[in-house]
Amino acid sequence: MFCYHCGYHIDEHRIERRSPSIESIEGATSESRIEYICPRCGESIHAGSDEKDIKALSRAAHAEVQRANNHFASGMGLASVGVILLVLGLIFYLLANRPSKGFILDTSCAEFYVFIVLTVISSVLLIAGIALVSVGIYKRHLYHGVLKDINNHTFVQ
Ligand SMILES: [Zn+2]
Repeated sequence: MFCYHCGYHIDEHRIERRSPSIESIEGATSESRIEYICPRCGESIHAGSDEKDIKALSRAAHAEVQRANNHFASGMGLASVGVILLVLGLIFYLLANRPSKGFILDTSCAEFYVFIVLTVISSVLLIAGIALVSVGIYKRHLYHGVLKDINNHTFVQ
């Protein structure tokens, strides 16, 4: 379900699996109208909608698509810096193979430590970048779907 106010997406099936409303709320039956509170903005998330709800959700979904694009862009930025540092690290790794010592890896030289530091930093950047890119792609897909449903007047929750 989506919050009409801010577009926040909750997985009501998972919430119900963890603590079914019928058991945890006194007097609830399968006919009861269940409402959730949005953890982001505190508005109620409920099934059914009027025109005002749909308008608000459409606005929120556009903002979420924008936010997803930002996630994607910053993830790509981080990943590119990560790749550059990885290449630099590789160069330092090659430099650590001293020709004077018969091209055997010299783990006591400064180049080797620079290689280790660059590899660690670039892996952190790559992991963070890939995570942000995945979140961006997932959210963009999710909210594009919502906007499509709203435009086709087929949105229900
Ligand atoms: Zn909300």
